[in-house]
Amino acid sequence: MNKRNVYLDNSATTQTRSEVITEMMPYFSNIYGNASSVHTYGQKAKAALTKARETFAKLINAQSPEEIIFTSCGTEADNIAIVGSLLANDGNHVITSKIEHHAVLFTCQNLEKHGYKADYISTNNIGRINIEELKSKITDDTVIVSIMHANNEIGVMEPIEEVSKILKDINKTRKNKILLHTDAVQTAGKIKLDVQKLGVDLLSVSGHKFYGPKGIGALYIRKGTKIEPLFHGGHHEFGMKPGTENVAGIVGMTKALELANLEMEKENRKIFYLRKKLADGIIEKIPEIVINTDIYSSVPNVLSVSFNYIEGETLLLMLDMAGIAASAGSACATGSAEPSHVLSAIGANPLAAQGTLRFSLGRYNTDEDIDYVLEVLPKLVERVRQMSPIWKKR
Ligand SMILES: *Cc1c(COP(=O)(O)O)cnc(C)c1O
Repeated sequence: MNKRNVYLDNSATTQTRSEVITEMMPYFSNIYGNASSVHTYGQKAKAALTKARETFAKLINAQSPEEIIFTSCGTEADNIAIVGSLLANDGNHVITSKIEHHAVLFTCQNLEKHGYKADYISTNNIGRINIEELKSKITDDTVIVSIMHANNEIGVMEPIEEVSKILKDINKTRKNKILLHTDAVQTAGKIKLDVQKLGVDLLSVSGHKFYGPKGIGALYIRKGTKIEPLFHGGHHEFGMKPGTENVAGIVGMTKALELANLEMEKENRKIFYLRKKLADGIIEKIPEIVINTDIYSSVPNVLSVSFNYIEGETLLLMLDMAGIAASAGSACATGSAEPSHVLSAIGANPLAAQGTLRFSLGRYNTDEDIDYVLEVLPKLVERVRQMSPIWKKR
């Protein structure tokens, strides 16, 4: 089979769709006004911003456009949600999980340095949080619970609706209601987001994870939620995110989510099938592997695989030379020698965790892509293992 380029790192970022680029173009050229300006240039930009906010609110079933604030990225949305609610409410305690993205995990760890309290809920071996443990950690000081909608390394989805029901019950008898935040960066565009059904007060998304542009995100803030901004300046985004609005980015991200919601079922079916084909092929052709992703409780596109007796980074580089882009664990953790916190949390053997790759599929992948990977990958794994002294001695 001829060498081909196969991009299997869609959980790190995606290619911006051409329809999205077309939608954005006028806001770089004709409609370049500052949305806060009173003149016609500004008002045209403002109109686009207002329309995007209305559309975006409908797409996630928010009650009103004022519940949406546009942010610079998913990381910023997560930070505003968690730090902003701790600043605005009585209490000093946040509950999160051991497998959050660093945008949540490091935010909570940093809060601890400043005197706040944080608890990190453990998970079972597929990455589902322990609900009983979560309940047991709630105190009078708890302000917010932040649990991701789907994990970026192994794809597992968390039971957000169940957590919401538990909190609603507890909140009935509390003066200070506990808020629920979910980082939905890995589900937006793959699962239809419905903030009413999920029962969340705060929800973060990021445009570049669903074929929108980079550098744009959104935070849903349920009406009535007490929250303080982290940055101070202009009155933009209802004072929650001051700074001249990225109108092109906002319009592009909204278009991307609109298209994703329309095509979701069809795309998911295809991607689920391709992932299954990849998983089955790896299981059939490569010995000594562990599949870390539970296919039936995860987003359809992620497949995390541990290759025993292998150093993940080495395999990653060899795959890259063969034209295949994957990731070791998560893009954000690359460069650290520590085993991934997610794989540790699900109880993966630390040695196996070293040889873990994340394949994350997307809408542009084809059957031929997977055929190519299944031809190349087994050979590369065999080659890397042949160089390993522990493989020979096993
Ligand atoms: C990518 C990602 C983020 C960060 O989003 P950015 O827009 O890149 O800041 C946060 N959470 C999860 C789960 C992610 O996958």
